[in-house]
Amino acid sequence: MNIAIDGPAGAGKSTIAKKVAKKMGYIYVDTGAMYRAMALFMIKQGIDPCDAPSIEEACKIADISIEYRDGEQVVLLNGENVNAYLRTEEVGNMASVTSVNAKVREKLVELQQKLAKTKDVVMDGRDIGTVVLPNAEVKVYLTASSLVRAQRRALELEAKGESADLSKIEADIIERDNRDMTRAISPLKQAEDATLIDSSYMTIDEVVEAILNLVK
Ligand code: C5P
Repeated sequence: MNIAIDGPAGAGKSTIAKKVAKKMGYIYVDTGAMYRAMALFMIKQGIDPCDAPSIEEACKIADISIEYRDGEQVVLLNGENVNAYLRTEEVGNMASVTSVNAKVREKLVELQQKLAKTKDVVMDGRDIGTVVLPNAEVKVYLTASSLVRAQRRALELEAKGESADLSKIEADIIERDNRDMTRAISPLKQAEDATLIDSSYMTIDEVVEAILNLVK
């Protein structure tokens, strides 16, 4: 049994997917973290995001694997736990730019498909229902307006004591959506058989409930 959740940045995919996985006793697979780990490797190597040959070379030497520790997904980059370094704007933007590369996608899609083959998973990302798990039993396209997503991100930053410029955050979100939706390979789009959930005016629990109802 596999549940695929796709959608744009900040729609609440990871929060929701984690809760659904816990309720179902499934494993949560955060595919964005894998693209981020590849991006982190490229930043560390000083690779220019427009330099396709270097990105492809990086795919050969970066070993990305996933482990679960106390139910949490841990991303290992060449054997080192890099979870603490993945959720910065710099890494997110590098991931968004480098994830257009076919070799990057090939490498990570293979890893994702292997994980789903042996276990029941709730997997979130941009191309799960369309490319990675086209036969997933349940597919959800989770979205929210760009303003609501920016407001959620601003609250997160403020909670961490960081300053937040709402219009800049919204502009970044729109730019990232645009890149993810218009790339040639595996663009972000709703799978034909996915259920659309707009979480703009829903609570987390309401979204979780809506997905659990699709599983029943
Ligand atoms: O979801 P998250 O913000 O962590 O993803 C970071 C970036 O990785 C996205 O903006 C997207 O470009 C890329 N990504 C992707 N395919 C996925 C998951 C993430 O292209 N399945």
